[in-house]
Amino acid sequence: MANKGQIGVTTENIFPVIKRFLYSDHEIFLRELVANAVDATQKMKVLASNGEFTGELGDLKVRVELDEKEKTLKIIDNGIGMTAEEVDKYINQIAFSSAGEFLEKYKDQNIIGHFGLGFYSAFMVARKVTIESLSWKEGSQAVIWSCEGDPEFEMGPCEKKDRGTIVTLFLDDDSAKDYGTSGKIGQLLGKYCKFMPVPVVFGKEKEWKDDKYVETDKDHVINSVEPLWTRKPSELKDEDYMKFYKDIYPMKEEPLFHIHLNVDYPFNLTGILYFPKIKERMAIERNNIQLYCNQMFVTDHVENIVPDFLTLLHGVIDSPDIPLNVSRSYLQADENVKKISTYITRKVADRLEEIFKNDRAAWEGKWDNLKLFIEYGMLSDEKFRKRAMKFALLKNTDGKFFALEDYRKAISGDQTDKDKKVVYLYATDTEAQYPFIEAAKNKGYDVLLMDCELDSHFVNLLEREIPDSRFARVDSDSVDNLIPKEEKVKPEMAEEDKKNLETMFKTVLPKEYEYFIEADNLGESEAPVLVTRNEFMRRYREMSALGGGMNFYGEMPESFNITANLQNPLMVKLIGDMKENSDKVEEFASGSDLLKQLTDLALLSNGLLKGKPLSDFIARTGKTLTDYYTSK
Ligand code: ADP
Repeated sequence: MANKGQIGVTTENIFPVIKRFLYSDHEIFLRELVANAVDATQKMKVLASNGEFTGELGDLKVRVELDEKEKTLKIIDNGIGMTAEEVDKYINQIAFSSAGEFLEKYKDQNIIGHFGLGFYSAFMVARKVTIESLSWKEGSQAVIWSCEGDPEFEMGPCEKKDRGTIVTLFLDDDSAKDYGTSGKIGQLLGKYCKFMPVPVVFGKEKEWKDDKYVETDKDHVINSVEPLWTRKPSELKDEDYMKFYKDIYPMKEEPLFHIHLNVDYPFNLTGILYFPKIKERMAIERNNIQLYCNQMFVTDHVENIVPDFLTLLHGVIDSPDIPLNVSRSYLQADENVKKISTYITRKVADRLEEIFKNDRAAWEGKWDNLKLFIEYGMLSDEKFRKRAMKFALLKNTDGKFFALEDYRKAISGDQTDKDKKVVYLYATDTEAQYPFIEAAKNKGYDVLLMDCELDSHFVNLLEREIPDSRFARVDSDSVDNLIPKEEKVKPEMAEEDKKNLETMFKTVLPKEYEYFIEADNLGESEAPVLVTRNEFMRRYREMSALGGGMNFYGEMPESFNITANLQNPLMVKLIGDMKENSDKVEEFASGSDLLKQLTDLALLSNGLLKGKPLSDFIARTGKTLTDYYTSK
């Protein structure tokens, strides 16, 4: 005798709302139903272990069965089951009382994984759903409940003999197309149920026989019930972590190392994070951390749960304490989430520091692949920065590594300037800046290699964080001026000569750049003309190119310092000629091969001579050599 009634939704029909509203995320219905079945099974285990249930537990499994022809999908468990009263209480009295309230609750599309919708998500894909259930309680009568997607249901007794629940979905036509194949169901189970704590069976194992795959009668279990992160780190070896990594990221290169997270107070969190090799910014992939809640996949968008730089890591985080039924914007403000985020940052820093301290060789070996991650962390997260100042490395142009502290000690003797600042020299391109690097090394200075994409930001950061320090790229001034030991007096020059010097150089220099022209005494044997780049202008330009928000500098043309070395004999000759032509400097400059040759040589050593000017230079050099050698 069937019982009829109305589901506790008062004003409207909830089902069209469910269908329409959760459109983008229909596929989670399977996770919700399997999770319910898993829950019911685990409750059964608890009842058995605390002695409330003394009967036969049976083979505790959840089965998913698809009938492609009939377009039905069954989720079958032998968990605790439900009595008629329980179906009424848990299924009929929907947790929300009206469609309006439901909408209010779910109006933010960003709700993580749409948790809490539970059983009713079945109606996103089914035109009809039945529940057949037999409770574990002794003497229970099996019950069947069915509902066709309107607020009316039917409920009555049924013949089910085994303990547990069968939920049957009669897929609607559209959903049958989307979800009605075992390929699709297999894929969804793989995505959402891969690590659920109770075996989930879908189909039979296949084996290779007589040149084809044939079904065996062995159940195909799609999940691993005890994923690595739930096990004790002390029982696990590096190989286990690597194997697990390969399981979840079959296509990826081996990671550098891992961290096993495990905390149960003041919040509950387990997980394994992996450090991938990160070589360039363009190759960075985010959204590689999977978030689980009690072994049930929730999302791979963890950006509001862990600090931004940690989203570069791979791995899994499992926590029942991350609120999942709130919108993403609330997440960041959540106290638990803040604590979790701090905890993870601390653990990551602990692990990095541990390797730095205990295995310096490994740390240095991995540095090139880690550097971008650590620099990004230091730039974006203050807590991490404080920690990383201890284990971040600097690499010099000879390939030697130094901790920040040690490097400062190593260079402070020779590289302290007249203002008592320690000057860190660096190169960003060992090829292009080769002459400058050599010049600095010849003076006994050390040159760092800062060739990472974030380095222009990082240099600023270090300058700020290391007291009394200054960073200068090797080509930002003449070697002697890079680390001035005492106040230097620039050579005296008459105003007119200064102006003429400027006019002379500007006549022959490439027009696309800006120049600051000055005269200096750099020594007889040093080059006649030196082209250098203003450290700060250059750095700001680079940062704005990287999106540092300083567009003002980004739009300015690149600028160079041109230094005429008044002590070089060729320059002495050139200045003499210039003075003789002081009433027509531009005309003189355009006709002076010496000026062009000296300027081009300087541009050449900066890699700035290209195209026509370069071939002019080669032709002019050829001519000069011919004149020189054939006139002898
Ligand atoms: P939630 O799982 O978030 O509580 P659901 O709507 O999915 O919400 O389920 C409501 C309740 O119905 C569950 O809490 C559980 O008590 C009961 N239930 C659902 N599915 C099963 C099942 N397969 N076996 C036993 N009880 C179930």
